[in-house]
Amino acid sequence: MAERTYHAVTLETVQGDITRQDDLDAVVNAANARLRPGGGVAGAIHRAAGPGLARECEALAPIQPGQAVITAGHDLPNRHVIHCLGPVYGLDEPADQLLAACYRRALQLADEAGLTSIGFPAISTGVFGYPMAPAARVALYAVAAKADSLTSVKLVRFVLFAREDLAVFDQVLETMTECT
Ligand code: ADP
Repeated sequence: MAERTYHAVTLETVQGDITRQDDLDAVVNAANARLRPGGGVAGAIHRAAGPGLARECEALAPIQPGQAVITAGHDLPNRHVIHCLGPVYGLDEPADQLLAACYRRALQLADEAGLTSIGFPAISTGVFGYPMAPAARVALYAVAAKADSLTSVKLVRFVLFAREDLAVFDQVLETMTECT
C-alpha cells in the first residue's frame, strides 16, 4: 500500500477485488469493445452488478480503445461503473497514449458526474497483455498529471488483484514526488 497526493487528489494502491470497494462512488471496468460481460474484471463486474448492467451497456457499445463511458452501478456497492477500453498490447498503437487516455477520460467522466472517489483495476494488463511495470507507470503518471484539472474527485484507488502487481504499483508510486 502506498499513497501520494497531487493537487488535493490522493492516489492510493491496495490489493483487492474491484467489485468489493464499498466506499467508492465509482469503479472502473476493464471492458471489451462491445461492453459485454466476458472474463477478468468485466466478468466479475457484470456478475456483481447483475443483468441490468449489460442491458444498459448495450445502448453505449461499441467503444474504441482509449474511450470510456459511464453507467449506473446496479447491484454493485458503487453508484457508477466507468467502462474503459484499454489497448490490446502489440496491436492498438500508440499503446501508452491509448492507455493514458483511458485513465484521463474515466477521471473526466467521474468529475463531471460530481463523484469524489474512483477505483481502477490495472487496465489492459490481463488478456490484453500490457506488461505490468510499464502499465503501472502510464496509469500513475496519467492520473497524477490530470489531478490539477479535477474539481470533484479527491480519491483515486488502484485496486490490484495480485500481491506482486501491488508491489509493482507501489514501487512506481514511491518514486513519484508529491505536488500539493
Ligand atoms: P484487460 O482485458 O484490460 O487486460 P482483464 O480483466 O483481463 O483486462 O485484466 C486486467 C487486470 O485486472 C489484470 O491484472 C487482472 O489480474 C486484474 N483483475 C482480474 N479480476 C480482477 C478483480 N476482480 N479485481 C481487480 N483486478 C482484477
